[in-house]
Amino acid sequence: MLYKNIGEIPINLKGRVAIKLHMGDRGNKTHISPKDVSVLIEKIRAKGGDPYLVDTITLYPRERSTREGYLMVARENGFGDFPIVIARDDVFVEKDGFRIPKDIADADSLIVLSHATGHVLMGFAGAIKNLSIGCVNKYSKRRIHEPMRPLYDEGLCKKCGVCAEACKYGYIKLNDKVEINLKDCHGCRRCVRSCPTGAIHIGKKALENNFELFSESAKAVLSLFKPENVIYINVLKNITELCDCVKDSGDIVCRDMGYLTGKNPLKLDMETPELIRKQNPDTLDFKTWNLFVNIAKKHL
Ligand code: SF4
Ligand code: SF4
Repeated sequence: MLYKNIGEIPINLKGRVAIKLHMGDRGNKTHISPKDVSVLIEKIRAKGGDPYLVDTITLYPRERSTREGYLMVARENGFGDFPIVIARDDVFVEKDGFRIPKDIADADSLIVLSHATGHVLMGFAGAIKNLSIGCVNKYSKRRIHEPMRPLYDEGLCKKCGVCAEACKYGYIKLNDKVEINLKDCHGCRRCVRSCPTGAIHIGKKALENNFELFSESAKAVLSLFKPENVIYINVLKNITELCDCVKDSGDIVCRDMGYLTGKNPLKLDMETPELIRKQNPDTLDFKTWNLFVNIAKKHL
C-alpha cells in the first residue's frame, strides 16, 4: 500500500525494534530523511516498543567500513539524535552459511526501511538489497561478491594501465602484467567496464551466481524473524540513479511518491520499480533487475 506520509503507516511492534536502514555515505544528500525516522521512532515508542537504528559496516575501505567511522557519518547526515547501533562485525549468528550480526539478529522485531534507488549492479536497490548485503557482516559481504571478482586474460592485455586507474581502491597494479588484489576486491566491475580489450572480465555466470547469493542471504536473515514481526517500508522519495553508498548518487529520476509497504520484500521490490517506470520508463536497468527477480523468486 502506498502512503503519502510515513506517520500513516500502521506500526504495532513490541520489544527491541531494529530499524534497518542505510544512513547514507559521507556527503550523500538524498538518503532517507532523519525527519521520517523520527516519526517512526515516536510511533514505535507510543506502542511501548524500544526502537534503534541499525546498519552494518561496509566491505569497501571508506569511512563507513569501521563502526566509529560509520557513526561519525551517521551523525553528519543528521541521525545523531537517535539511538544508533552500528553492528559489531565479529559478534554474529550463522544461518545457512551467512553471518548476521547479533545486533540485528537479536532484535524482537525488524523494520526494513529501504530507500528505493537505481543500483549499479542489480539495476534497482530496495528491500532485498537492504536485507541481504545490508544485514550481513564483512565476511559474508565478501562471499556474496566473490562471483563478481574480475578474471584476467594476459593474452588480451595491452598493458595500458586503464584498469589500475579505474580501481580507486588501489587493488590493481600493473607490473609486467596486471596483478589484482582479489582478497579485498568487492567486485564493483569498474575495472571490467574500463578495460578496452576485455582482458579483465567476469566469469560467464558471475552475475547469476552473485544474485543467487544475494537472495539466499536475504532469506537467511528473514528466517531469524517471525513474519508478523517484520515490516517493510520502501521510501519513494529522492529516487536517484545510484544508491546511497556513494556521495553523488546521480540525478533524481522521478517525482516523490511516498512510502510503499508490503508483506513480501520481493513483491514490494517488484512493485516499486514499476511505479518508477510509469514516470520515467528509461531510468532503471530493467534487464538486469528482471534477471535478479527471476533468481530471487526461487528463494523468497
Ligand atoms: S572489481 Fe575491479 S575496480 Fe572494483 S574493487 Fe575489484 S579490482 Fe577494484
Ligand atoms: S585495462 Fe585491460 S588492456 Fe589495459 S592493462 Fe588493464 S587489463 Fe590490460
